[in-house]
This record gives sequence, C-alpha cells and structure tokens, in this order.
Amino acid sequence: MKLIEGAPIAELVYRECLVSFEELKAAGFLPGLAVVLVGDDPASKAYVASKDRKCRELGMHSVKIEKPENSTQEELLAVIDELNADEAIHGILVQMPLPRHLDEEEIIRRIDPGKDVDGLHPVNLGKLAMDDSSGFAPCTPSGCQRMLIESGIDTVGKHVVIVGRSLLVGKSLALLMMGKGKGANATVTVAHSRTKDLPSLTRQADILVAAIGIPRFIGPEHVKDGAVVIDVGINRIDDANSRGGTRLVGDVDFDRVAGKCEAITPVPGGVGRMTIAMLMANTIRACRQKAGL
Ligand code: NDP
Repeated sequence: MKLIEGAPIAELVYRECLVSFEELKAAGFLPGLAVVLVGDDPASKAYVASKDRKCRELGMHSVKIEKPENSTQEELLAVIDELNADEAIHGILVQMPLPRHLDEEEIIRRIDPGKDVDGLHPVNLGKLAMDDSSGFAPCTPSGCQRMLIESGIDTVGKHVVIVGRSLLVGKSLALLMMGKGKGANATVTVAHSRTKDLPSLTRQADILVAAIGIPRFIGPEHVKDGAVVIDVGINRIDDANSRGGTRLVGDVDFDRVAGKCEAITPVPGGVGRMTIAMLMANTIRACRQKAGL
C-alpha cells in the first residue's frame, strides 16, 4: 500500500508558485489575496489564519477582512465591490459557511469571476463544465486531481466513484475527472445520500473518493482490493487519549481500509494540505492573467 501524502505534493505546487512569483515581480506585479471571514467560528478562523500565513510565507500580499456575525448582506456585498475594484487584489475568497441570515449564492455571484480563486462563481463552474482551462477550478477538487497526477496514478478510462455531490467538492471533482485534461478522462459515478446499495457501487471503483462529512463512514465493505482511495473528509471527533480531547479523522476508516488499497490518502496530512496550495496557485494564475503573462 502506498501512502499519498499531501505535504510533498503541496510543496511542489509552492515551488511552482515561487517561480511564477519571480516572473510576476520582474513584470512589476505582486499577487494579492483577500480572505473575508464573517463571524467567530473557530474552524473558519483557523482556516483563514493558515491561508494568511501561507500567503505571507510566499511573499504575497495578503488581506484578511473580519466582519462581525451580525453583518448584513449589503455590508458584505459592499466589501466584495471594494475588493473587486482593488488593483492590489487578484484573488478573493469568502470563507464558507456564512451565517445563516446571509445569501451565500448572491455573495459568490458578486465576486469578479477573474478574482474568484475559490472557483465557485457560475462563470468558473461553467468553464469547468466546458473544459475551458482559463477558469478557476475549486481548490479541493483540483488538489485531489493533482495528487493523482503526482502519484503517477493513471485515470484514463478508470472508474472513479465519488461519494458526495456538493459543489465545493463532489460535483466539481466529477466535472474535473470526466474532463479531457491531464489526470482526467475517467468514467465517473457520483453517489450521495439517496444512492441505493452504496457498497456495491463503490466496490466497482478503481479510484474511490470520499467527500461525505461522516467520520470513518467508508469501511472495507465499500472498497475493492487494489483500489486507490482519496479521503477528502475532515471530521473532528472526541478522543480522550489525544491532546485537547479531540482529533481529526477522515470519511474513510483508514485502519480497516488501508490494507486493501493500492494507494490511500491519510487524514490529517492528505487532501487538506492541497487545498491551500491550490488556492495560492489560483491566486498567482489570476495575477498572471491580469499581467497578461
Ligand atoms: P456537504 O455536507 O456539502 O456534502 C456531503 C455530501 O455527502 C452530500 O452530497 C451528501 O448527500 C453526501 N452524503 C451524506 N451522507 C451520505 C450517506 N450516508 N451516503 C452517501 N452520501 C452521503 O460536505 P462537503 O462536500 O463540503 O464536505 C465533505 C467532507 O469534506 C467534509 O468532511 C468536509 O469537512 C471535508 N472537506 C475537506 C476539505 C479539505 O480541504 N480537505 C475542503 C472541503 C470539505 P446529499 O447531497 O444527498 O445530502
């Protein structure tokens, strides 16, 4: 069994970013990312802090905008309008989920598609569906695809079964994997909570992706011998033996599944590492587009 770790592949992406960064600097451009956080959710705060930290490590311009939980839709839209107009900002990310009184879709639609480095604007999702590589694909799915490519896992003609159909992960990854680009050309099946007899479907997968949000949901009964398993899930569970009394686990029951796999991603240390790397890569690409490079 091969362990597909995120860190070395993310490092590869960062190295590419730095090369691109130097070229941009020579052309007089400094890539800038703005992350908008609404409210005090500790997990969202931690994600935003790590995005900000990574930007600074790479020498990029980073803006963190924190708004109170009770912000109005109009206030949020005004923030987006300002960032759209800001020449120093090439990428905008609104940390999800937003408080329930806000309309996420309207806020995403307001972002300039050329700055939508999270890839969730309808223009970018449309480009993804049309195999138009000038758009931005959502970061977690493109991170999964990059892990397959860098691990030398052939996807052409392979049966990829994705459990989960969110726009953020499952549905977008399905579009990527059935596309005609590198690390794609797969035959894709998407399963969700209404799928009947899930184990018999997932056992047909050459490559099985779990993006469900239920700790250790995928067991050995879901996996065929020799499959590649990509675990997108990040779930915090209670664990009296861990520091702080909790720990992170994936959507795959790693200990029981790993022995059946040709390759598998761990949690933590797998796909999660790739999401921020792809965000940085998208921001640098947005800046390159602005610079005409
Ligand atoms: P969502 O809750 O938006 O989607 C979960 C999907 O799983 C839905 O399509 C749902 O089906 C499906 N599902 C739920 N229960 C079952 C079931 N019993 N059988 C089959 N399918 C089921 O979650 P996300 O896509 O946003 O995230 C999924 C996981 O990935 C989470 O653990 C999240 O924390 C993690 N994540 C990790 C990231 C990373 O950087 N590694 C980034 C983003 C997410 P239905 O549509 O029918 O409800």
